[in-house]
Amino acid sequence: MFKPEFLDTDITYLQGVGPKRAELLNKELSIFTFRDLLYYFPYKYIDRTRFYKITELDPDLPFVQIRGTIKGYSTEGHGTAKRLVADFQDDTGTLKLVWFKGGKWITGSFSPGVEFIVFGKPSVFNGIINIVHPEIEAADKMAERLNSALQAQYSTTEKLKNQFVSSKTISKLIGNMLKQIKIRLPESLPLYLVSRYKLMEIHEALHKIHFPANPDELEKARYRLKFEELFYIQLNLLRYKTNRNIKLSGFVFSSVGDNFNNFYYNNLPFTLTDAQKRVVKEIRKDLGSGKQMNRLLQGDVGSGKTLVALMSMLIAIDNGYQACIMAPTEILANQHYQTIVKLLEGIDIKIRLLTGSSKKSSRKSISESLLDSSLNILIGTHALLEENVQFANLGLVIIDEQHRFGVAQRARLWQKNLNPPHILVMTATPIPRTLAMTLYGDLDVSVIDELPPGRVPIKTMHFTDSERNKVFGFIRNQIAEHRQVYIVYPLIKESETMDYKDLEDGWDTISRVFPAPLYCISIVHGKMTPANKEMSMKLFKDGVAHILIATTVIEVGVDIPNATVMIIESAERFGLSQLHQLRGRVGRGADQSYCILMSSDKLSREAAKRIEVMIRTNDGFEIAETDLQLRGPGDIEGTLQSGIPFDLKIADLVKDVQLIEYVRHIAEDILNLDPLLENSQNLIFISELKRLFSQRQSWSNIS
Ligand code: ADP
Ligand code: MG
Repeated sequence: MFKPEFLDTDITYLQGVGPKRAELLNKELSIFTFRDLLYYFPYKYIDRTRFYKITELDPDLPFVQIRGTIKGYSTEGHGTAKRLVADFQDDTGTLKLVWFKGGKWITGSFSPGVEFIVFGKPSVFNGIINIVHPEIEAADKMAERLNSALQAQYSTTEKLKNQFVSSKTISKLIGNMLKQIKIRLPESLPLYLVSRYKLMEIHEALHKIHFPANPDELEKARYRLKFEELFYIQLNLLRYKTNRNIKLSGFVFSSVGDNFNNFYYNNLPFTLTDAQKRVVKEIRKDLGSGKQMNRLLQGDVGSGKTLVALMSMLIAIDNGYQACIMAPTEILANQHYQTIVKLLEGIDIKIRLLTGSSKKSSRKSISESLLDSSLNILIGTHALLEENVQFANLGLVIIDEQHRFGVAQRARLWQKNLNPPHILVMTATPIPRTLAMTLYGDLDVSVIDELPPGRVPIKTMHFTDSERNKVFGFIRNQIAEHRQVYIVYPLIKESETMDYKDLEDGWDTISRVFPAPLYCISIVHGKMTPANKEMSMKLFKDGVAHILIATTVIEVGVDIPNATVMIIESAERFGLSQLHQLRGRVGRGADQSYCILMSSDKLSREAAKRIEVMIRTNDGFEIAETDLQLRGPGDIEGTLQSGIPFDLKIADLVKDVQLIEYVRHIAEDILNLDPLLENSQNLIFISELKRLFSQRQSWSNIS
C-alpha cells in the first residue's frame, strides 16, 4: 500500500513523533519527512558484543558495557553536587554509577541483586571508576533485543536531549519507520550501475546503515550510500558542463587586436612567466572556440593572476565586448581598479569601479556607459550582481577569490546577458583537490604553478608573547631599511567586541613603541567606512605609513610589494589557509620577506601543528591538504576558506578522495554515451538530480 511518495510523508505522522517532536526535529536536525529521517545516518557505531570486566576499565576507554549487579544506593555531596550513587559489582570488582538527577525513578527501576547491563563512559573520581548517567538494561531483556550487534549512534543537540530525544530515541523512531515500510524502497540508481559496480541495493543499504548485523554488512551499506552521494554531486556538475557545451554557443573572440598587442609590447612591466604564458594561451583557445568558456584559474598567492585576467579582458575588448571583474572585498576591488588603470596607462580603454559605497550619481553614469557600450571594463564587488547593472554586450566575467561562488551562483551571472559570457574563476586559496572537484567540478582547470622570477622564499618564524621585544626590534630594523610592516589581528566575526579590544590594545602598544612623528601607523578594519579604509590603505600603499594594523580585511589579494613583514597576532586562532593567505601579502617583491607568527605560550596540539606546517613549507597545496586533514570537512563546512555549499551526509572529503575520482569517471562515461540522459535506463538520474539539487538555490550565501 505504500507508494514511493511514502518517504515524503511529514515526520509528524511517524509513530512516536507527533507535532511537538516534529517541530523539534525540524528545527534541530532539519528533519521534515520520513526520507529525511531515513537519511539521517549514524555518526558512529558501538560494538555491543563486547563486555568488559570492571578491573579492565580505565578512563581512557570510550563507551563500554559491563554485566553485573547493584549492591545498594547512597546519596553523596551537597547542593548542586548532590548525586545518587550506586555500587555496581561484577566478579572482578566494584565501580560507582552516578546520577545528578532522576533519583526516585532510578532506585525504583533498578533493584539491587538483579543482573543488569550497564553502558557508559568510564571516568575516575577519588581513585574509583565512575560511570555518570549510564544506560541500564535488564540482562535478559537486552539479549532478546540484540539483533544488531553494532549499535548506531546519532548526533543530537542539547535541546533534543532536554526533550528526551536521545540517540536511542532516534534509533527507535527509525526502527518504527522501517517496520512501517512494507514495500521495497525504490532504487535511486539504475540497476545496471548497481550490478556493474556490485553495490548493495538501496533498500538493503538503508536498513543496514541503521541496523547492521556485522561490520562487513555495514561497510557495504556505507559504500553504497557514499557512492551514490558522491556520484550525484559529480553527475550534477558534469551535466552542467555538458549542457553548456551542447546548448550554449559562446561568443567567438577570434582575433587578438590592438589593445592586447599595445599592452603586451608597450605596457607590460615584466616578461610573463612560462606558466602565465601557457595559461593565457589556454584561455585564448577557449575564447576562440565558439564554446562558452568556464575555466578555473588556480595559482598560489602571488603567482600573478591579475595580469592573466587583464590580458583576457583585453581580448574581449578587442573583439568588441565588455568585461568585468568581481572581487570579494571593496579593498580588493579598489586595488584591482588602481592596478589595472595603471597598467593600461596610455591605452584608450574605459574602466570604472562599482562597489556598495559607489554614489548614486556615479552608479547612474556607470549604468549609462554600460548600456551605450562606451564602458569597457567594470571592476567591483557583489554590487555587480545587482539587477540594475546591465551590460550592452558583456563578453567575459572574471570572478576573483570567491570561494563560495559555486555552480548555482555562476549560473545567475548568465542572466546578465542574452548569451552567456565567458567565465574565468580565479582562486589562490589553495583548495584541496577533492574540494575543487566538488565545488568547481564543472570547470576546466588552468594552473599557474610558477612564481615570478626573483622571488625569495618567505621566512616564517614563531614567537610567543614573552618575546615581543625582540619582534619590536626586528620591526624597527626593517623600517630603517625602508620596508613596511603589516600587523594583523584575528577577527572571527566583525561584530565581536572582544576582538576589537585586541585590535585597540594592539594599536595602543604599537603607537607607544613606534611613536609619531618618527613613525606613521595606519589602520584598517571592518567597522570603518569604505572611504576611511581606502584612505588608510592608500597611506600604506604610497609608502607613507610604515605599519599597517589590520584585521583580516586584508586577507585576500592585497598587493603591496614593498611590505616585507607580516606579523600575525594570536596566530593560534587562525586556520591554516587563512595564515597562508595572510602570509601571501608579503614576499611579492625581490626582497627577503618575513612572516612572524605570534602566539601565547600555551598551544593546543592542533595549533602547534598548524604553526609547524607554516614554518616548514610555503607550498599552498601542501598546506591545503594538511588543513583538510587537521580540521576534517565537518569543520571546514561553513568557513570562508572552503565554502563547500552543501552538507555531505555520509561521504568524507578527506577519506574518500579515491571514491570521488572513481565516481567522477563513471559519471563522465555515462554522459559521454548519453549526454542528455535520455536513455530510458538513465531517466532515473533526472528525477534524482531534480530532487537532490533543485531546492537548494539557497546553498551558499554569497557574502
Ligand atoms: P595573485 O596571483 O596572488 O593575484 P598578483 O596578480 O597580485 O598575484 O601578482 C603578485 C605580484 O607579482 C604583483 O605585484 C604583480 O605585479 C607581480 N607580477 C605578476 N606577474 C609577474 C611577472 N611575470 N614577473 C614579475 N612580477 C610579476
Ligand atoms: Mg589576486
